[in-house]
Amino acid sequence: MIVERDVVVVGGGPAGLTAAARLASAGLTVTILDEQPELGGQYYRRPAPEVARRWGDHRREGGELIAEARAAGVECRPGHLVWGLADDGRTLLAEDAAGSPVRLRGRAIVLATGAYERAFPFPGWQLPGVTTPGFAQHLAASDHTPVGERVVLAGSGPFLLPVACSLLALGVKVAGIAEAGTPYRLGRRALGALRHPARLRELAGYVARLARARVPIWQGTVVLRADGRDRVSAVTLAAAARPGLAVRTVEVDALCVGYGFRPQTDLARMLGCEVVTDAATGDAIPVTDAAGRSSRPDVYVVGEAAGIGGAHLAKARGLAAAHAILTRETGHPTPPAEARALARLGHFTALTDALYPSPAQLLDLLLPALPDSTLACRCESVTVGEIRAEATGDVNAAKARTRAGMGPCQGRVCGFAVAGLAGGDTVFPARVPVRPVRISTLLELAAEGETA
Ligand SMILES: Cc1cc2nc3c(=O)[nH]c(=O)nc-3n(C[C@H](O)[C@H](O)[C@H](O)COP(=O)(O)OP(=O)(O)OC[C@H]3O[C@@H](n4cnc5c(N)ncnc54)[C@H](O)[C@@H]3O)c2cc1C
Repeated sequence: MIVERDVVVVGGGPAGLTAAARLASAGLTVTILDEQPELGGQYYRRPAPEVARRWGDHRREGGELIAEARAAGVECRPGHLVWGLADDGRTLLAEDAAGSPVRLRGRAIVLATGAYERAFPFPGWQLPGVTTPGFAQHLAASDHTPVGERVVLAGSGPFLLPVACSLLALGVKVAGIAEAGTPYRLGRRALGALRHPARLRELAGYVARLARARVPIWQGTVVLRADGRDRVSAVTLAAAARPGLAVRTVEVDALCVGYGFRPQTDLARMLGCEVVTDAATGDAIPVTDAAGRSSRPDVYVVGEAAGIGGAHLAKARGLAAAHAILTRETGHPTPPAEARALARLGHFTALTDALYPSPAQLLDLLLPALPDSTLACRCESVTVGEIRAEATGDVNAAKARTRAGMGPCQGRVCGFAVAGLAGGDTVFPARVPVRPVRISTLLELAAEGETA
């Protein structure tokens, strides 16, 4: 049986929830799906019930937005992974939490699939205790659990600061933050931030909190390697200007390394939406207009899936797409105030992009010093040297010959580095299923005469 709706929204984060609530409150039939056990996405990830009871909800507005969507009549389907597309090119194929197939068709599809963290390998990153800042943030916010007692955060991007502050709030000793760029050195570029007083206050709050806790921010510093026997026990850092030369070694029991976020565009590409490669980030970005309309008239791409910009921009994009769909459905115009908010938030994103090293610059910085013996693809245990040996400028050829990117993460973790090593395209093509699904789901679907 195919579930028919006016609008199907994939992704229950700030963007998807905002769009769904607006559309349902205007009387359209809307279903929202999310692979996570609860709606909220990354920014509004729900705290575990016992955590909420004991320490409260760290993002109350997230719970309010979910309640608003439910109250507006949105059919909410958490625990549903959208993994494929039926032959008609319109029907989405999903798997529910029980492992049963679900087929949904919408007159409009809103893809609000968010982002994933940009990782880069280094010797020792496979050690237990080495994670991403996003994982540490979720553990802290949703489970009130510290990722370690003595932690170093490293990589690049504004996200390292709130994560460090979340860890401090749990009593963790944050030994330092290694930022590959030099964004916090006051300069002409930073002056643009004066146009965003609210974000500037947020940044100043993080910096003041870190200063009070005497957390050093080592700018222009990168990870050289992580060491340890059963788990990470030390991290060695190098100056970004000389990434192969050690400048300090810090004892830790956890290390969180991340280089910002990459848009999750697998479904947009699977649906045949036009994507372009962003020159600065190397990311595949769906081509959309300000309202999120993609090259497919029935598909809208919003939130971080349309380009990294943070939770506030994600919500504004969700709203803009909802208005575009309503305009299409009912002729309601897009309120000018929202168009202005979208532009302002877009400017802030451009500013942060300018302050931190671009992924292309990071690759130039980090790749040369990367030893051949380093594991590049942890899923398939493929080394940097094996990929270098297959570097023909075609990332898919490197994948086919080495199996790098063929594991459970489908290249989400290793893709950035593998593309940098192999050359050519920067993301692997979207393949169905976009995530591992149960065989039973495929068998049940086949029994219903459906093929993907
Ligand atoms: C690990 C991580 C932690 C982050 N933490 C913060 C933070 O603390 N503060 C902050 O400001 N920003 C954080 N961000 C940035 C975050 O991307 C934005 O703040 C914001 O959540 C983006 O909203 P969104 O609605 O576009 O996407 P998201 O909030 O990412 O929501 C997208 C949802 O879609 C789901 N989804 C994706 N593909 C499918 C599929 N095929 N089928 C079903 N469901 C699917 C995802 O699981 C997710 O729940 C984090 C990002 C990541 C990756």
